Amino acid sequence: MKVTIIGGGVIGLCSAYYLQREGYEVTIIERGDITDGCSFGNMGYMSPSHFVPLASPGIIAEGIRHMLSSSSPFYIKPRLNWDLLQWGYHFWKNSNAATVKKNAPHLNNILQLSRQLINDMRNEIGDTFDMETIGCLMMCRQQKTLEHEFHLADDAEKFGLKVERLKRDAVQQLETDVEVDVAGAVLFKDDCHFNPGKMMVALKNNLEKKGVNFQLHTTVTGFEKASNKISAVITDRGKFDCTEIVIAAGSWLPVVAKMMGIRLLLQPGKGYSHTYDHVEKNIKYPAILVDGRCAITPWKHQLRIGGTMEISGINNKVLVKRMQGIYDSAKVFYPGLKIDFPPVDKIWNGLRPVTPDGLPYIGKIAEFENVVFAGGHAMLGISEGTGTGKLVSEIIRRKHTSVDISAFKPTRFQ
Ligand SMILES: Cc1cc2nc3c(=O)[nH]c(=O)nc-3n(C[C@H](O)[C@H](O)[C@H](O)COP(=O)(O)OP(=O)(O)OC[C@H]3O[C@@H](n4cnc5c(N)ncnc54)[C@H](O)[C@@H]3O)c2cc1C
Repeated sequence: MKVTIIGGGVIGLCSAYYLQREGYEVTIIERGDITDGCSFGNMGYMSPSHFVPLASPGIIAEGIRHMLSSSSPFYIKPRLNWDLLQWGYHFWKNSNAATVKKNAPHLNNILQLSRQLINDMRNEIGDTFDMETIGCLMMCRQQKTLEHEFHLADDAEKFGLKVERLKRDAVQQLETDVEVDVAGAVLFKDDCHFNPGKMMVALKNNLEKKGVNFQLHTTVTGFEKASNKISAVITDRGKFDCTEIVIAAGSWLPVVAKMMGIRLLLQPGKGYSHTYDHVEKNIKYPAILVDGRCAITPWKHQLRIGGTMEISGINNKVLVKRMQGIYDSAKVFYPGLKIDFPPVDKIWNGLRPVTPDGLPYIGKIAEFENVVFAGGHAMLGISEGTGTGKLVSEIIRRKHTSVDISAFKPTRFQ
């Protein structure tokens, strides 16, 4: 009844939450101290509305169009790297309507499962992370984009989601304090949002209270194997014997998998954000600025703007012009918003773990019977966190899973 989890991001903590509830003795091994990282500075959306995977028709053309712009929202740094080439090939192969049609129901399943579970989690660990259940706006400036969003809203309704199609005046009526300049929007009413950093702190405190063992500032460097099992995790602070093991290492999933001799296709997708601590006249609704390709989230007087998808390897280099692109978009969509461009040292960045088809890796592998992979959630780690944690606990308990996980097989690109 012992589980060792590698990685203390949202996926690691949610997995610990459900495993601990089932009576497992859980240890989390984390290189940092769980105060920052991709699970902290993101936009905080829990969005069933995002059932279309990142790899979708038009994305490649858009990427190529933006390739040469330093402030663009989507960028792949060209470099001769075999893993990147393989990843790019599979991303291209999956960016078509037929694959999206096949994969969207799977994304929808895990998104809706997670959305239901977050209510219970909030009730149990306490409402300390500014969760609001008012939905999320998909804001469009161009009529063509709006028509596309209305079309997506039809698909969303087929999945049972509640939507409202809004013209410009209706959007302005929602945003009573700030002038907006859009053609219209779709309000996805099932989406909710919260402060992800506060949620991580609340969850970690809750797990600590329940006796989950946190091995912080501890980096996994290898594994000991015994026939078809991993028998111990080797770290820079000693060896940890293990019974069951969950790999939830975010963008470092392929690095950790390689230590076991497993090859996983995944690229880090860098995103930026900045948080304004006090905006006097703030927006009320979180919104994806669809044709601006960025996002904006209010928490009372706080406001976060963020976005970009920069595939440039594992690094935390800040390209200020990308943040400029996000800031400029926010100002265009909300001319009435009084915010300044942030100082460079206040620009946050994080690495999303991006798979080639936009579906996560959740499940076991044939090589080691006591290993579960949980990662590769790309832009949806917060949205799919609770569902993933529950699925991980069901897989380890060898139970029937709450949703079909066949599409999330970690070795599907081998
Ligand atoms: C700008 C931006 C906005 C976003 N907005 C949203 C949003 O609104 N909604 C949403 O659903 N998602 C959003 N995301 C995506 C979401 O943040 C990620 O999908 C999620 O945080 C990934 O969680 P994770 O636990 O897999 O990885 P991480 O949070 O990266 O955690 C992995 C952990 O593993 C640890 N680790 C790695 N290697 C080792 C090792 N060898 N030894 C020990 N520890 C190790 C790392 O230190 C890290 O803490 C956004 C991302 C960005 C960048």
